[in-house]
Amino acid sequence: MLEIKNLHVKLEEEDKQILKGVDLTIEAGKVHAIMGPNGSGKSTLSYVLSGRNGYEVTEGEATLLGQDILELDPEERAAAGLFLAFQYPVEIPGVGNMTFLRTAVNAQRKARGEEEMSSTEFLKVVREKAKELEIGADMLKRPVNVGFSGGEKKRNEILQMAMLEPKLCILDETDSGLDVDAMKLVSDGVNKLRAPDRGFLVITHYQRLLDHITPDVVHIMYDGRIVKTGGPELALEVEKNGYADIMAESA
Ligand code: ADP
Ligand code: MG
Ligand code: MG
Repeated sequence: MLEIKNLHVKLEEEDKQILKGVDLTIEAGKVHAIMGPNGSGKSTLSYVLSGRNGYEVTEGEATLLGQDILELDPEERAAAGLFLAFQYPVEIPGVGNMTFLRTAVNAQRKARGEEEMSSTEFLKVVREKAKELEIGADMLKRPVNVGFSGGEKKRNEILQMAMLEPKLCILDETDSGLDVDAMKLVSDGVNKLRAPDRGFLVITHYQRLLDHITPDVVHIMYDGRIVKTGGPELALEVEKNGYADIMAESA
Protein backbone atom coordinates (compact mmCIF):
# COMPACT_ATOMS: atom_id res chain seq x y z
CA MET A 1 0.00 0.00 0.00
CA LEU A 2 2.62 2.53 1.10
CA GLU A 3 6.10 1.96 -0.17
CA ILE A 4 8.99 4.18 0.87
CA LYS A 5 12.38 3.49 -0.64
CA ASN A 6 15.68 5.03 0.36
CA LEU A 7 14.06 8.33 1.31
CA HIS A 8 16.49 11.16 1.95
CA VAL A 9 15.18 14.50 3.14
CA LYS A 10 16.92 17.72 4.04
CA LEU A 11 15.68 21.04 5.34
CA GLU A 12 15.06 23.54 2.56
CA GLU A 13 16.48 26.45 4.54
CA GLU A 14 19.58 24.82 5.94
CA ASP A 15 21.99 22.24 4.70
CA LYS A 16 20.78 19.73 7.24
CA GLN A 17 20.02 16.15 6.27
CA ILE A 18 17.25 14.73 8.46
CA LEU A 19 16.11 11.52 6.79
CA LYS A 20 19.05 9.45 5.63
CA GLY A 21 17.57 6.56 3.70
CA VAL A 22 14.21 5.43 5.09
CA ASP A 23 12.81 2.14 3.79
CA LEU A 24 9.29 1.23 4.82
CA THR A 25 6.53 -0.88 3.32
CA ILE A 26 3.05 -0.92 4.83
CA GLU A 27 0.68 -3.60 3.61
CA ALA A 28 -3.09 -3.13 3.37
CA GLY A 29 -4.85 -4.04 6.60
CA LYS A 30 -1.76 -3.64 8.76
CA VAL A 31 -0.91 -1.28 11.57
CA HIS A 32 2.73 -0.24 11.65
CA ALA A 33 4.21 1.75 14.50
CA ILE A 34 7.32 3.88 14.42
CA MET A 35 9.02 4.58 17.72
CA GLY A 36 12.32 6.23 18.41
CA PRO A 37 14.13 8.75 20.53
CA ASN A 38 13.36 12.43 20.22
CA GLY A 39 14.93 14.07 17.18
CA SER A 40 15.28 10.90 15.13
CA GLY A 41 13.11 12.20 12.29
CA LYS A 42 9.73 10.59 12.97
CA SER A 43 7.70 13.77 12.59
CA THR A 44 9.75 14.83 9.60
CA LEU A 45 8.74 11.61 7.87
CA SER A 46 5.05 12.34 8.45
CA TYR A 47 5.45 15.97 7.34
CA VAL A 48 7.17 14.94 4.13
CA LEU A 49 4.48 12.38 3.39
CA SER A 50 1.83 15.04 3.97
CA GLY A 51 3.53 17.52 1.65
CA ARG A 52 4.38 20.18 4.18
CA ASN A 53 6.64 23.01 3.01
CA GLY A 54 10.22 23.39 4.16
CA TYR A 55 11.53 19.92 3.34
CA GLU A 56 13.36 18.78 0.25
CA VAL A 57 13.48 15.19 -0.92
CA THR A 58 17.00 14.67 -2.22
CA GLU A 59 16.78 10.95 -2.98
CA GLY A 60 14.35 8.06 -2.87
CA GLU A 61 10.64 7.62 -3.45
CA ALA A 62 7.27 7.14 -1.79
CA THR A 63 4.28 5.57 -3.48
CA LEU A 64 0.73 5.02 -2.26
CA LEU A 65 -1.09 2.25 -4.12
CA GLY A 66 1.49 2.59 -6.85
CA GLN A 67 1.11 6.35 -7.21
CA ASP A 68 4.08 8.64 -6.61
CA ILE A 69 2.80 10.86 -3.80
CA LEU A 70 5.82 13.11 -3.45
CA GLU A 71 4.86 14.84 -6.71
CA LEU A 72 1.33 15.65 -5.52
CA ASP A 73 0.09 18.68 -3.62
CA PRO A 74 -1.47 18.04 -0.19
CA GLU A 75 -5.06 18.03 -1.51
CA GLU A 76 -4.15 15.52 -4.21
CA ARG A 77 -2.51 13.33 -1.58
CA ALA A 78 -5.73 13.37 0.41
CA ALA A 79 -7.68 12.46 -2.71
CA ALA A 80 -5.26 9.59 -3.28
CA GLY A 81 -6.29 8.26 0.13
CA LEU A 82 -3.72 9.65 2.52
CA PHE A 83 -4.89 11.01 5.86
CA LEU A 84 -2.76 12.73 8.44
CA ALA A 85 -4.27 13.04 11.85
CA PHE A 86 -2.71 16.43 12.47
CA GLN A 87 -3.94 17.74 9.16
CA TYR A 88 -6.97 19.57 10.55
CA PRO A 89 -6.37 20.27 14.24
CA VAL A 90 -6.76 24.01 13.66
CA GLU A 91 -9.56 26.00 15.18
CA ILE A 92 -11.85 27.56 12.58
CA PRO A 93 -14.12 30.15 14.18
CA GLY A 94 -17.35 30.74 12.28
CA VAL A 95 -17.29 27.42 10.43
CA GLY A 96 -19.53 24.71 11.81
CA ASN A 97 -17.93 21.32 12.24
CA MET A 98 -20.52 19.65 10.03
CA THR A 99 -20.06 22.19 7.23
CA PHE A 100 -16.33 21.70 7.41
CA LEU A 101 -16.61 17.91 7.24
CA ARG A 102 -18.95 18.11 4.29
CA THR A 103 -16.61 20.47 2.45
CA ALA A 104 -13.67 18.15 3.10
CA VAL A 105 -15.58 15.06 1.95
CA ASN A 106 -16.83 16.76 -1.20
CA ALA A 107 -13.45 18.29 -2.02
CA GLN A 108 -11.98 14.82 -1.84
CA ARG A 109 -14.75 13.40 -4.04
CA LYS A 110 -14.30 16.18 -6.57
CA ALA A 111 -10.56 15.57 -6.75
CA ARG A 112 -11.33 11.91 -7.40
CA GLY A 113 -13.80 12.83 -10.13
CA GLU A 114 -16.70 11.51 -8.07
CA GLU A 115 -20.11 13.04 -7.52
CA GLU A 116 -20.71 15.16 -4.42
CA MET A 117 -22.50 13.61 -1.48
CA SER A 118 -26.07 14.93 -1.19
CA SER A 119 -26.85 16.73 2.04
CA THR A 120 -29.32 14.02 3.02
CA GLU A 121 -26.78 11.29 2.50
CA PHE A 122 -24.07 13.29 4.24
CA LEU A 123 -26.28 13.86 7.29
CA LYS A 124 -27.07 10.18 7.49
CA VAL A 125 -23.43 9.13 7.29
CA VAL A 126 -22.07 11.78 9.64
CA ARG A 127 -24.69 10.97 12.29
CA GLU A 128 -23.95 7.27 12.01
CA LYS A 129 -20.21 7.72 12.39
CA ALA A 130 -20.56 10.35 15.13
CA LYS A 131 -22.74 7.96 17.09
CA GLU A 132 -20.17 5.18 16.78
CA LEU A 133 -17.54 7.55 18.15
CA GLU A 134 -19.86 8.87 20.87
CA ILE A 135 -19.81 12.38 19.44
CA GLY A 136 -22.89 14.38 20.38
CA ALA A 137 -24.98 16.58 18.09
CA ASP A 138 -23.67 19.73 19.76
CA MET A 139 -20.09 18.93 18.80
CA LEU A 140 -21.15 18.60 15.18
CA LYS A 141 -22.72 22.05 15.21
CA ARG A 142 -20.02 23.97 17.05
CA PRO A 143 -17.30 25.81 15.11
CA VAL A 144 -14.43 23.49 14.20
CA ASN A 145 -12.31 22.75 17.26
CA VAL A 146 -13.12 26.12 18.86
CA GLY A 147 -13.16 25.64 22.61
CA PHE A 148 -12.94 21.88 22.20
CA SER A 149 -11.17 20.06 24.99
CA GLY A 150 -8.12 17.97 24.12
CA GLY A 151 -10.29 14.86 24.18
CA GLU A 152 -12.93 16.45 21.95
CA LYS A 153 -10.29 17.48 19.44
CA LYS A 154 -8.97 13.92 19.35
CA ARG A 155 -12.48 12.56 18.88
CA ASN A 156 -13.08 15.07 16.12
CA GLU A 157 -9.87 14.04 14.40
CA ILE A 158 -11.05 10.43 14.42
CA LEU A 159 -14.41 11.55 13.00
CA GLN A 160 -12.62 13.38 10.17
CA MET A 161 -10.67 10.22 9.51
CA ALA A 162 -13.84 8.11 9.54
CA MET A 163 -15.62 10.48 7.12
CA LEU A 164 -12.77 10.63 4.62
CA GLU A 165 -12.37 6.83 4.55
CA PRO A 166 -8.65 7.01 3.82
CA LYS A 167 -6.50 4.17 2.55
CA LEU A 168 -3.54 5.08 4.71
CA CYS A 169 -3.80 6.91 8.01
CA ILE A 170 -0.77 8.48 9.61
CA LEU A 171 -1.01 9.50 13.23
CA ASP A 172 1.87 11.38 14.77
CA GLU A 173 1.19 11.38 18.49
CA THR A 174 4.77 11.96 19.53
CA ASP A 175 4.74 15.40 20.99
CA SER A 176 1.09 15.89 21.74
CA GLY A 177 1.35 14.94 25.40
CA LEU A 178 -1.57 12.55 25.27
CA ASP A 179 -3.10 11.79 28.63
CA VAL A 180 -4.54 8.36 29.35
CA ASP A 181 -8.06 9.29 28.24
CA ALA A 182 -6.91 10.85 24.97
CA MET A 183 -4.73 7.83 24.33
CA LYS A 184 -7.72 5.58 24.77
CA LEU A 185 -9.76 7.70 22.34
CA VAL A 186 -7.06 7.51 19.69
CA SER A 187 -6.54 3.78 20.10
CA ASP A 188 -10.28 3.00 20.13
CA GLY A 189 -10.65 5.13 17.02
CA VAL A 190 -7.84 3.34 15.23
CA ASN A 191 -9.17 -0.04 16.27
CA LYS A 192 -12.66 0.80 15.00
CA LEU A 193 -11.31 1.99 11.67
CA ARG A 194 -9.01 -0.96 11.10
CA ALA A 195 -10.03 -2.59 7.83
CA PRO A 196 -8.57 -5.07 5.34
CA ASP A 197 -8.08 -2.34 2.73
CA ARG A 198 -6.67 0.28 5.11
CA GLY A 199 -3.20 0.70 6.53
CA PHE A 200 -2.02 2.70 9.53
CA LEU A 201 1.24 4.32 10.48
CA VAL A 202 1.22 5.24 14.14
CA ILE A 203 4.14 7.35 15.28
CA THR A 204 4.74 7.50 18.97
CA HIS A 205 7.49 8.15 21.42
CA TYR A 206 5.86 6.04 24.07
CA GLN A 207 5.00 2.39 24.29
CA ARG A 208 1.78 3.08 26.23
CA LEU A 209 -0.24 3.94 23.12
CA LEU A 210 0.67 0.58 21.65
CA ASP A 211 -0.79 -1.24 24.67
CA HIS A 212 -4.20 -0.39 23.26
CA ILE A 213 -3.55 -0.50 19.52
CA THR A 214 -1.36 -3.64 19.20
CA PRO A 215 0.55 -2.96 15.98
CA ASP A 216 1.38 -5.70 13.52
CA VAL A 217 4.87 -4.32 12.98
CA VAL A 218 7.06 -2.03 15.07
CA HIS A 219 9.96 -0.01 13.64
CA ILE A 220 12.57 1.91 15.53
CA MET A 221 13.82 5.08 13.91
CA TYR A 222 17.14 6.55 14.90
CA ASP A 223 19.18 9.29 13.26
CA GLY A 224 17.05 9.45 10.12
CA ARG A 225 16.81 5.73 9.43
CA ILE A 226 14.77 2.75 10.46
CA VAL A 227 17.33 0.76 12.38
CA LYS A 228 15.23 -2.11 13.69
CA THR A 229 11.96 -3.80 12.79
CA GLY A 230 10.03 -6.40 14.74
CA GLY A 231 6.66 -7.39 16.13
CA PRO A 232 4.75 -5.89 19.07
CA GLU A 233 7.37 -7.36 21.42
CA LEU A 234 9.87 -4.78 20.14
CA ALA A 235 7.79 -2.02 21.73
CA LEU A 236 7.86 -3.87 25.04
CA GLU A 237 11.61 -4.33 24.76
CA VAL A 238 12.01 -0.57 24.29
CA GLU A 239 9.74 0.09 27.25
CA LYS A 240 11.91 -2.14 29.38
CA ASN A 241 15.40 -1.26 28.18
CA GLY A 242 15.03 2.13 26.51
CA TYR A 243 16.66 2.97 23.19
CA ALA A 244 20.28 2.79 24.32
CA ASP A 245 20.97 -0.79 23.18
CA ILE A 246 19.38 -0.26 19.78
CA MET A 247 21.24 3.02 19.31
CA ALA A 248 24.55 1.39 20.22
CA GLU A 249 23.90 -1.52 17.82
CA SER A 250 23.21 0.82 14.92
CA ALA A 251 25.99 3.32 15.63
P1 ADP B 1 11.15 13.35 16.08
O1 ADP B 1 9.75 13.54 15.61
O2 ADP B 1 11.64 11.94 15.93
O3 ADP B 1 11.35 13.84 17.47
P2 ADP B 1 11.80 15.40 14.17
O4 ADP B 1 11.42 14.90 12.84
O5 ADP B 1 10.86 16.35 14.84
O6 ADP B 1 12.12 14.19 15.13
O7 ADP B 1 13.21 16.10 14.06
C1 ADP B 1 14.37 15.47 13.52
C2 ADP B 1 15.54 16.43 13.51
O8 ADP B 1 15.35 17.42 12.55
C3 ADP B 1 15.76 17.14 14.83
O9 ADP B 1 17.12 17.27 15.01
C4 ADP B 1 15.10 18.49 14.58
O10 ADP B 1 15.69 19.46 15.39
C5 ADP B 1 15.36 18.71 13.13
N1 ADP B 1 14.34 19.53 12.46
C6 ADP B 1 13.16 19.08 11.97
N2 ADP B 1 12.45 20.06 11.38
C7 ADP B 1 13.21 21.19 11.52
C8 ADP B 1 13.06 22.54 11.12
N3 ADP B 1 11.99 22.96 10.46
N4 ADP B 1 14.06 23.40 11.43
C9 ADP B 1 15.17 22.98 12.09
N5 ADP B 1 15.38 21.73 12.48
C10 ADP B 1 14.43 20.83 12.20
MG1 MG C 1 10.31 15.32 18.70
MG1 MG D 1 8.02 14.19 16.52
